[in-house]
Amino acid sequence: MCLVLEIQPSVKVHLVIRWYLGLSESHCTMADTNPSPLKHFVLAKKTITAIFEELLDYVTEGTHFVEETYKNPQLEDIATKDELAKIEEYKKKLAVIGGVLARRHMKVAFFGRTSSGKSSVINAMLWDRVLPSGIGHTTNCFLSVEGTDGDKAYLMTEGSDEKKSVKTVNQLAHALHMDKDLEAGCLVHVFWPKAKCALLRDDLVLVDSPGTDVTTELDTWIDKFCLDADVFVLVANSESTLMNTEKHFFHKVNEKLSKPNIFILNNRWDASASEPEYMEHVRKQHMERCLTFLVDELKVVDPSEAQNRIFFVSAKEVLSARKQRAQGMPEGGGALADGFQTRFQEFQQFEKMFEECISQSAVKTKFEQHTIRAKQILDTVKNIMDSINVAAANQRVHSMEEREDQKDRLEFVRNQLNLLTDDIKKKIKGVTEEVANKVSSAMTDEICRLSVLVDEFSSDFHPSPQVLKLYKSELNKHLEEGLGRNLADRCSSEVNKSMCQSQQEMIESLQALLPSDVQSKLHLLIPCRKFDLSYDLNCNSLCSDFQEDITFRFSLGWTALVSRYLGPKNAHRVLLGVAEPIPRSLASTPCAPAAPALTPENASQEELMVSLVTNLASLTSRTSMTVIIVGGLVWRTVGWKVISLSLSLYGLLYLYERLTWTTKAKERAFKQQFVNYATEKLQMIVSFTSANCSHQVQQEMAMTFARLCQQVDITERNLEEEIARLSKEIAQLEKIQNHSKHLRSGDANPVHQITSLPLLTTTPHWHSRMCPFI
Ligand code: GDP
Repeated sequence: MCLVLEIQPSVKVHLVIRWYLGLSESHCTMADTNPSPLKHFVLAKKTITAIFEELLDYVTEGTHFVEETYKNPQLEDIATKDELAKIEEYKKKLAVIGGVLARRHMKVAFFGRTSSGKSSVINAMLWDRVLPSGIGHTTNCFLSVEGTDGDKAYLMTEGSDEKKSVKTVNQLAHALHMDKDLEAGCLVHVFWPKAKCALLRDDLVLVDSPGTDVTTELDTWIDKFCLDADVFVLVANSESTLMNTEKHFFHKVNEKLSKPNIFILNNRWDASASEPEYMEHVRKQHMERCLTFLVDELKVVDPSEAQNRIFFVSAKEVLSARKQRAQGMPEGGGALADGFQTRFQEFQQFEKMFEECISQSAVKTKFEQHTIRAKQILDTVKNIMDSINVAAANQRVHSMEEREDQKDRLEFVRNQLNLLTDDIKKKIKGVTEEVANKVSSAMTDEICRLSVLVDEFSSDFHPSPQVLKLYKSELNKHLEEGLGRNLADRCSSEVNKSMCQSQQEMIESLQALLPSDVQSKLHLLIPCRKFDLSYDLNCNSLCSDFQEDITFRFSLGWTALVSRYLGPKNAHRVLLGVAEPIPRSLASTPCAPAAPALTPENASQEELMVSLVTNLASLTSRTSMTVIIVGGLVWRTVGWKVISLSLSLYGLLYLYERLTWTTKAKERAFKQQFVNYATEKLQMIVSFTSANCSHQVQQEMAMTFARLCQQVDITERNLEEEIARLSKEIAQLEKIQNHSKHLRSGDANPVHQITSLPLLTTTPHWHSRMCPFI
């Protein structure tokens, strides 16, 4: 039966600790039944190594997670640099601990005087002559025997990687003797095939020492070889009493280690068989001395337990018996002293007690600190995950609130923009209409005052066509400038003012939709440039077909009279003697001031008059004789004096008018004609110009509005991007939250897929139960 649970790493480590503590409570029970308690250590090592591998995977995953979170530029302050450094350090530590654990083994060190039988005991335990014995201690070196998976034995000396092959124990002894480089107190590793020796399969290392009587450097020995030993075996010679050198050594060990596990083997007990009458007495004496040493002097064991630490054995006999058995011969064969079986059983008893003790102790000393450390690491990792989880949760709530704000803001901006767009369109329409009216009325006024503007013009005037052409062009220019200036004076400032005001209102109403940083630099984004209305009268082309009439006309002349009564057009027809249709084009050059416009009502009346006078003229020309006759009749009637007076006056008047028809007069007539012509033309373009101006204003305001809309669009886009960013951030934070939660609780982590922990505390057949895990 095994315990299969889903547990968190910290719980798991805790169970491991409880596991070996449970074992310590129960070792007595197991001692009776367990053929190899050393397996306990092996299993513990396997389990704890596996746990540490899982822990390492877990912390590695946690490290990746923290690193990813820390390095994510969008997620600041979720994981801190400290947390990353901490978890990375733990990862390294766990890897180191894992390595250390994998190399852990149980270590037993044998001490005693030279020739007390240390090597023999080791050989007996290993069921083979592994170490040389009987020749005094081979060297002043420590010999550690450990297992190798290969099938060849070899030795390695300290500070060298060379594997020196040894086939037999004699070769080993020879090699140790011959090696001149070996210093006193150095360590020689003897690797013995595990296949040959069961004990070595269970991670046990046996260390043979040179002999406590041959050294003065006990402190160095202890520091070098004893601090990591789980059990010490004092091999004493039962043919003598415990010597002070031996006692002194263990006192020193006891000073450096807290309660070392010490066994005392009274070896060579077979010698007592030769004096059976004293045997019990001697055994009792040895037992008392040993108890006093362990319980009273060293205080390393309770009196009740101490009996289980002192044995009377014969290593030589056990080794020889075991070798015989290995060769298929009976154990008790050969020349064995009396009481062999008892001594043999006592040796076996020692082995069991030793194995339980060392296994128990090694699990505690080799793994306890690490498991506690691992638990601390896990707690800290858990705290890191907690803090990341909390930070991510807080940040997520914050981001969600912010996203809601941004969504509200976006909706507000969109709705407001729709509402304001209608308002602003109306406002622009109002302003443009106002501008159109203003420009139209200003232009009408200016047209009325056109003569003043034309009069102001002065330039060299001459009736010659070249001069006139130049004069006209300059006059047009003057008119264009003058009208433009006057219109600007009348309209521009007002138009500018109302437009600026409207623009300002527009900006103010849309400003609220923009973020504060944009608001503050709005004057840069939408510069309030000076707006100049362009009236674009284009007088030059407008009056291009103006044709002046500055030939002299006597005011009482026939042509003038006809013109006066019939109008210039009709007079022309009359004078040419043809009845042409009356032209209606207003673009023709006016020949007389204030010529009344022809209307359909008076057209027939005028036609009648024209035909009458035409006929009269034709009659007159044809009958000039008749005129002379009529003149003679008049002569007779009014008298020659009146006629000559009238003629004189007529002549004088003609002369006067002829003389006053100077260039100046011609210029005046020209200007008058021009004023009339231009007035007519300008009146035609009043509505066009005002529409043009209002269009300019509309363009300007629409541009400002478009710019504002562009800023609002940017704001909307930014808000959309921010919402998208926040959504992404929220998703990431949620992922981090889940991951940290998952790492904290470890639901899906392989480290939590359990662990098989054997129940060791009360079950008598634990070994068989453990087998599936070994
Ligand atoms: P070490 O120097 O302490 O390692 O002692 P050894 O193991 O080399 O033994 C020294 C000698 O004592 C050898 O000749 C062994 O055969 C002998 N010896 C060891 N154990 C016993 C024993 O239990 N009984 C007897 N009679 N001789 C033993």
